[in-house]
Amino acid sequence: AKKAVLGPLVGAVDQGTSSTRFLVFNSKTAELLSHHQVEIKQEFPREGWVEQDPKEILMSVYECIEKTCEKLEQLNIDISNIKAIGVSNQRETTVVWDKITGEPLYNAVVWLDLRTQTTVENLTKRMPGNNFIKSKTGLPLSTYFSAVKVRWLLDNVKKVQRAVEEDRALFGTIDSWLIWCLTGGINGGVHCTDVTNASRTMLFNIHSLEWDKELCEFFEIPMKILPNVRSSSEIYGLMKISHSLKAGALEGVPISGCLGDQSAALVGQMCFRDGQAKNTYGTGCFLLCNTGRKCVFSEHGLLTTVAYKLGRDKPVYYALEGSVAIAGAVIRWLRDNLGIINSSDEIEKLAKEVGTSYGCYFVPAFSGLYAPYWEPSARGIICGLTQFTNKCHIAFAALEAVCFQTREILDAMNRDCGIPLSHLQVDGGMTSNKILMQLQADILYIPVVKPSMPETTALGAAMAAGAAEGVGVWSLEPDDLSAVTVERFEPQINAEESEIRFSTWKKAVMKSMGWVT
Ligand code: ADP
Repeated sequence: AKKAVLGPLVGAVDQGTSSTRFLVFNSKTAELLSHHQVEIKQEFPREGWVEQDPKEILMSVYECIEKTCEKLEQLNIDISNIKAIGVSNQRETTVVWDKITGEPLYNAVVWLDLRTQTTVENLTKRMPGNNFIKSKTGLPLSTYFSAVKVRWLLDNVKKVQRAVEEDRALFGTIDSWLIWCLTGGINGGVHCTDVTNASRTMLFNIHSLEWDKELCEFFEIPMKILPNVRSSSEIYGLMKISHSLKAGALEGVPISGCLGDQSAALVGQMCFRDGQAKNTYGTGCFLLCNTGRKCVFSEHGLLTTVAYKLGRDKPVYYALEGSVAIAGAVIRWLRDNLGIINSSDEIEKLAKEVGTSYGCYFVPAFSGLYAPYWEPSARGIICGLTQFTNKCHIAFAALEAVCFQTREILDAMNRDCGIPLSHLQVDGGMTSNKILMQLQADILYIPVVKPSMPETTALGAAMAAGAAEGVGVWSLEPDDLSAVTVERFEPQINAEESEIRFSTWKKAVMKSMGWVT
């Protein structure tokens, strides 16, 4: 059959905490042509620990690329039209590997992991002034960021210590690990990261856009293991894939976009202007507001982070971020640990049966509380139970928890920015849940707006890759960007009712704190 004629295509790897995807877009229309998704395992070897296998992550990327290419062939689309590949990834998750053997030296320590709590306490005592880290990185000292995870690996894993001594160790977040592997690994793989991912390590100075020597000294992390920091849109290297991969058709295609998932979603939602914001509902929940070229520091528990830098000679943009550790993860927990649902989308059916939590509140502080509290001593609670409470109410309370947590960060954002958001742009795996979206509009009391093409994270990475110098198949000029069609959810309950629910939630949050001392 004759192959369909299309403009240039761009592929994107979207490596999340829950799953990996590969997606292919038409660069002229931003239309999604084909994709494939694979769920990845999370290991919980001890209470509070969360790990993933870097090899499994890599294999899931290969599998997604292969399957997507097969699907494109079935659609008669010529794979050789793919002109660039972008990478977007779960941030902070830390990998250390051996550059000689190509083998990871330990599992990936996932952003949610709490093993570094003692490390954090010890470092806090040694900190040369309260503002030392925050003023350079925009981040509070917490278990969340990569530097403390690397510190833990150096303190506790012999293989890592030895590899550093022998000059064989490389550190990276998931983007670095994947780009190194995809550009050849032990045969000349490129060891790099982009400014957005670097800004989540806690070793990166977000003003000078360089690794910070003082921070590396403070955390005692050798700078030789760090990747090169590049912009979010430039050619890092060419695809050079190992023998086993059927998708060898992508050999030689430039990898030319890289953004942490939340930055990628900001770009994919076209939030290029000061004051534009989006909230992504995945494993966790992340509300980012573009603050333009200004680094704004929060008075209300938000982070300052690099939003993007779309080209070597392009300016850097910053964002304020509200991070919630547990959102979709609570639904996965109801599925895997309690077994009250068989698949994530069943939650909607349960919640719909009751339409209320009936006074039940669920604070899923599994990994302590992130923004705006930054309270590592918190743990999850379900409260307000009566003999009447059933699994449907708990399901409803879990969804409501996601909305309340978003409300808390939106309130913080409005206070820091001065101008309240008039609506909330949303995306991520959980936004297919209509009950959740309606509840969110009710609890925020502003409209919630969702693009009809929900894969904004991948889209952002594809845009960055396609726009890179030397690729040039995607225009980021405002006039050329295709209009986004959306679905809207309007608030349906009154503000007073919404306030009552929210204040009871806050009471529940107070009860979740101080469990671990
Ligand atoms: P990530 O980018 O963190 O990997 P995704 O954006 O892929 O996450 O979203 C997956 C998360 O969304 C999972 O935690 C899953 O439990 C949750 N999820 C998926 N579908 C639904 C649904 N219909 N209702 C509620 N939660 C859902």
